[in-house]
Amino acid sequence: MKVLILENSRIFQKMLQDLLIELDCTVSCVRTGEEGLDLLVNTTEDTRYDLIIASQHIFDKSGAQFIQHCKVSERNTPIILLTSEPNETLMKNAHSAGIKEVFPKTNLTYLKSSIRYYIQGENSFDIKGGRVLYVEDSASVAHIVTKYLKKLNLEITHFSTAEEAFHSFADEEYDLVITDVMLEGTMDGLSLVRMIRAQNSHHARTPILAMTGHDDLQLRIDLFHAGINDYVTKPPIEEELATRVNNLITNKRLADKVRKQQRALFTLAMTDKLTTCHNRHSLSEYAPKYINDSVRYEYPLSIMILDLDHFKHINDEYGHTTGDNVLAEIGKLLMATCRQGDVVARIGGEEFLILLPHCDIDNAMHKAENIRSMIELAKPAGLKMTASIGVASLIAQHHEDFDKLYKSADNAVYYSKANGRNQVTADEESIEALELQQTSSRQPGQAL
Ligand code: GH3
Ligand code: MG
Ligand code: MG
Ligand code: MG
Repeated sequence: MKVLILENSRIFQKMLQDLLIELDCTVSCVRTGEEGLDLLVNTTEDTRYDLIIASQHIFDKSGAQFIQHCKVSERNTPIILLTSEPNETLMKNAHSAGIKEVFPKTNLTYLKSSIRYYIQGENSFDIKGGRVLYVEDSASVAHIVTKYLKKLNLEITHFSTAEEAFHSFADEEYDLVITDVMLEGTMDGLSLVRMIRAQNSHHARTPILAMTGHDDLQLRIDLFHAGINDYVTKPPIEEELATRVNNLITNKRLADKVRKQQRALFTLAMTDKLTTCHNRHSLSEYAPKYINDSVRYEYPLSIMILDLDHFKHINDEYGHTTGDNVLAEIGKLLMATCRQGDVVARIGGEEFLILLPHCDIDNAMHKAENIRSMIELAKPAGLKMTASIGVASLIAQHHEDFDKLYKSADNAVYYSKANGRNQVTADEESIEALELQQTSSRQPGQAL
């Protein structure tokens, strides 16, 4: 931000200069309105000041010319007046001269924080680009609004009908939608707002600014009911439009950031750090939902429990770090062999559980046998490793209770261990239930 200081006290000049430099501003100093005027006469579009901080000398004869020049040539560069005698007359004079703010010089701490707050507020105005979907059927209004928006470094995609705009909205990522209300075509702005808010994706949360020439209270209420975030009347005033657009985009960015952080925290809370598989807590979130869906939509659900064989020996022989590396590799292997929708969880030290929706006991056995032989061949951390596996499917006897299903698979693991390890065992009852189901669905006379 480029700031011009008009102040005749050297000490005060220096104090302001230091403060502004600390706030990343580029600063020029003059002592009188005359000097300021000289400087402004020689400024170009590129060297224009963003802010002028002036002491009361601005009300001298040359100061009046200076203010006038600021208004015209500098296109209303905001002026902050610093005064050592704040009073009503001065405030009135300042405001009628078009001065934006008056800060008393009497309390330095207060003055510094007022300036700091002002500058930081102005800097936060820089939304650093963004994409705007703009719907307006009047070419002249579209021309002027586009010009205003471009000054905010925004990329504008303009359509004159809501139908075209909605098409583009569904395919692209926008930071803001600005829509006129009365539009050509078969869809008006109100319908566009409703369509956007009815989307079944994050697009539905895109901020919407409505713009209309008819400042009709009922229409405004309807627009807010439909889901707009803000409203401006046409023709828009540049500064008002810029402020509203800035607020909407800034709020969207903040909300996106919060959502992203929430997702990251959620993933962290649900993930086992060592293997990046789901953790026990995550499994307890997913399991009841998987059971409900399996019963409701009548598809099979199986689980597989896998316990590495003689893992204690790895730690004892090669150290805990090697043991950790083995676990991490096994976790990756399991995740890589499972399809989307399966949940691979590490439920204990060297114990994993996989939820397998749409998978009956036959398929689960097949999958488990594949995994068993892959582990045997994998040599994680260069070591021979085997696993004992148990599988079970959700059957009526489990009464939709995950703990009962778990117990069935765990008993099967126990059997694999007792029977010599490095093998797969299926829960007997799950197999019987599948056979019964197959028999009852077979047509009379159909071959076995
Ligand atoms: P079995 O074939 O009967 O399953 O024998 P096992 O040695 O695999 O089973 P046991 O339950 O006796 O020992 C499991 C070992 O796993 C003991 C424990 O130190 C180790 N362990 C548990 N969690 C971790 C871990 O996070 N990292 C490492 N490196 N070792 C772990
Ligand atoms: Mg229109
Ligand atoms: Mg174990
Ligand atoms: Mg073990």
